[in-house]
Amino acid sequence: IESHSTLSDAAPVALSYELFPPRSPAAAESLWTTIGELESTDPDYVSVTYGASGSNRSTAVELIYRLVQETTLRPLAHLTCVGNSPQELAEIIAELLDVGVRGILALRGDMPKDGGTPPEGSLRYAQDLIDLIRRVEQRRSALLCAGKVAVGVAAYPTRHPESPSEAHDIEVLLAKQRSGADFAITQVFFHTGQYADLLTRARRAGVTIPIIPGVMPLTSIRRVTRLGELTGVEPDTGLMDRLAAADSDAERARIGVGATVDLANAALDAGAPGIHLYTFNEHASALEVLDKLALPRPRRADRRPAGRRVSASGHQ
Ligand code: FAD
Repeated sequence: IESHSTLSDAAPVALSYELFPPRSPAAAESLWTTIGELESTDPDYVSVTYGASGSNRSTAVELIYRLVQETTLRPLAHLTCVGNSPQELAEIIAELLDVGVRGILALRGDMPKDGGTPPEGSLRYAQDLIDLIRRVEQRRSALLCAGKVAVGVAAYPTRHPESPSEAHDIEVLLAKQRSGADFAITQVFFHTGQYADLLTRARRAGVTIPIIPGVMPLTSIRRVTRLGELTGVEPDTGLMDRLAAADSDAERARIGVGATVDLANAALDAGAPGIHLYTFNEHASALEVLDKLALPRPRRADRRPAGRRVSASGHQ
C-alpha cells in the first residue's frame, strides 16, 4: 500500500515525559489526572524524578510501582548519588528492578545548598552510579531473567555550573557512555541552536549514544525563572520580555507554546531521536506543544505493548 502522508514517511520520533513524585494528597490527585491524559498519547516512557536528598524515596518508588501496576506506561526511574549511601542505592536499584523497572536515569544530584559535602563513602559521580546499577543488575539478572536495564544519563547543552568548560562536559558524557550509559537526556535549554551545537560537539568527540533534548513548555515566567536559577541555565531574555508583555494568559500560552515548538523543531531538524517534555506534573501545556509538533510516531500496532505486567520470564 502506497503511503501518501509525508509524516508517515518520516523516521519515528520517541516521546517521553518527566513527572515528579507528588508532595501532598491533593497534588497526587491532580497528578493522576495528568497521568491519564499523558497515557492517552502513548509515550515511550515517563521519567520520575528523585530528590537529591533522598527524602522522597518512598513517594518516588510508590509512584513508579503504581505506574507499573495500574497503567500502560513504562517508568524511567531517576536516581541520584547524593543523599543515599552506596548500600542504600543498591537496595533501591534492586527494589526498582523487582517491581519491573527496566530504565534508570543515573544522576549525581545537586549538592546540598548549605555547601555541605556528601557523607564519606558516597558515590562521587553519575559514572559511579552507572557502575553500581550494572553490578546490581548482574547479580539479579539470573533471578529476574529480564532484558537489560536501559541506563540514561544527563547531558548539558550549556556548561554545567561546576564544570570548567563545555569541552569538559563532553568528556564527562563520553566517560558515562564508556561506563555503560545507553542514552542521554539534556538539561533544559532556551535557544534553538544549543541542542544542535551539543550534538555536533558530542559526535565529534566520539559520543554515539542517542541524546534526547529535554524541553520544558515555556509558558510560565515564574517557572522558567526558577528553573534558570536551579540549573544555572540563562533563560532567553527576548522570550521573557514577550511573555511579560502579553496582556492575557491565553496570549502568554500562545507565545510560550510557540517558542517551545520552535525549540523542539530545531532539535528535531538537527537529528534529535526524540523529545522529552518536562511536564511539571501538568498536562495542558505539554499536550498543546505535542499537538503543534505533530511528531511522526509509530502506529500503535508497530509498537511493543508497554511494560505492564511483564512476567518473570520477561515475556509479555
Ligand atoms: P555528573 O555527570 O557526575 O557530573 C557532576 C559534575 O562533576 C559535573 O560538573 C561534571 O563536569 C563533573 N564530573 C563528572 N564526572 C567527572 C570525572 N570523572 N572527573 C571530573 N569531573 C567529573 N537532580 C536531582 O536531584 N533529581 C533528579 O531527578 C534530576 N533529574 C535530572 C534529569 C535530567 C535530564 C537532567 C539533565 C538533570 C537532572 N537532575 C536531577 C540534575 C542533576 O542531578 C544535576 O545537574 C547535577 O548537578 C549533576 O548531575 P550529573 O548526573 O550530570 O552529574
